[in-house]
Amino acid sequence: MKRKILLLVCDGLGDRPSPELGGRTPLQAAAKPNIDALARKAMHGLIYTLSPGVVPGSDTSHLSLLGYEPQGFYTGRGPFEALGAGMKLNRGDIAFRCNFATVDAHGIVIDRRAGRIREPETAELASLVSDMRIDGAHVRFRESTEHRCVLVIGGKGLGAEVSDTDPGATGMSLQLSKGKDAASAKTARILNKFTEIAHASFTESTVNRERAARGLPPANAVAARSGGIYPSIEPFCEKHGLTFGAVAAEGLIKGLCAALGGEVVTPPGATAGMDTDLRAKGRAALAMLSEKDFVLVHVKATDIAGHDGNARGKVDILQKVDAMVGEIMNGAGDSTVFAITGDHSTPVSAKEHTCDPVPVMIYAAGLRSDGISSFDEISSSAGSLTWLRGIELMPLLKGYAGRNEKYGA
Ligand code: ZN
Ligand code: ZN
Repeated sequence: MKRKILLLVCDGLGDRPSPELGGRTPLQAAAKPNIDALARKAMHGLIYTLSPGVVPGSDTSHLSLLGYEPQGFYTGRGPFEALGAGMKLNRGDIAFRCNFATVDAHGIVIDRRAGRIREPETAELASLVSDMRIDGAHVRFRESTEHRCVLVIGGKGLGAEVSDTDPGATGMSLQLSKGKDAASAKTARILNKFTEIAHASFTESTVNRERAARGLPPANAVAARSGGIYPSIEPFCEKHGLTFGAVAAEGLIKGLCAALGGEVVTPPGATAGMDTDLRAKGRAALAMLSEKDFVLVHVKATDIAGHDGNARGKVDILQKVDAMVGEIMNGAGDSTVFAITGDHSTPVSAKEHTCDPVPVMIYAAGLRSDGISSFDEISSSAGSLTWLRGIELMPLLKGYAGRNEKYGA
């Protein structure tokens, strides 16, 4: 029987024992009756989403979980951010994730988020420099979520080995971008010219005159980072023989799924923040499952709680994830392989991504179960899946979904 596959990825899911939680991890501390009911019927293990010891980024680890070795084509998250912001990209385009920032008269960055500027002001500013030619290259710029924006440079002879203009901290000047080779030096020159043009244009803008009148810091600079080249990626559908959809709210993951040719849905109320409506995501996942062979559901808030060092907040979000899982399981029926994992660990004690492996469980009606009663980092280590690399998850899920051909006679 061919089954469908639903993969739930909680960003930054894995954690370490937390003193605020009596020495338990947030997964151990959370009340999660739906997930644990599933856990008792599931197979368990741990995943090193890239390789043991490697500290994963969200983009590289998601690629790996979706069956793509990121080495060889991944150069930076810029292209995925640009796609996630709704831009169309061509192969070879160089894209950056950027912030609207505030610089003083000496070019020193005094606010990397320009007073947390938002739409519609960001859209109005972006429209001033949205499309231009610099040194023969096509330069496009667009607002993204909150204070964020994206820059895309397209043309011949461009390289992606360029340094950031964003200094990464306040009190430092906006940096001049430099390229590692001749092609990248060309990209860096174009980026530096764009940065000057945007500064001049924003400084004169109505938006900033009005902000000054209200006592708000001007959004008078663009700080760019994470430049990368839009690669040639085999579409998910061709690679795996499965139609692909995703329910996600974060720009990076939306863009990454779009780059793989997936249909991406963000239901009303679903955000990439702690206020996200996970039940809405659950309903969207069920609707998508009726049309697609493979559905990815991404939850960002677990990673945010980890970065904030917010143990209680991570527990709360996991309890909301549990309600979502209940909703999905009620509707998904027995014809689905259901897997839950994370893209990396973001322990609340570390406030950063770490190399700790993430727990994984796989459930489908009629498969073996490990007799483990809780889904968490410690219990998973006793499971039959032992430990996997991220790249091994897709073949496994496809195998259990009856989607792999027999090897041999
Ligand atoms: Zn992540
Ligand atoms: Zn993170």
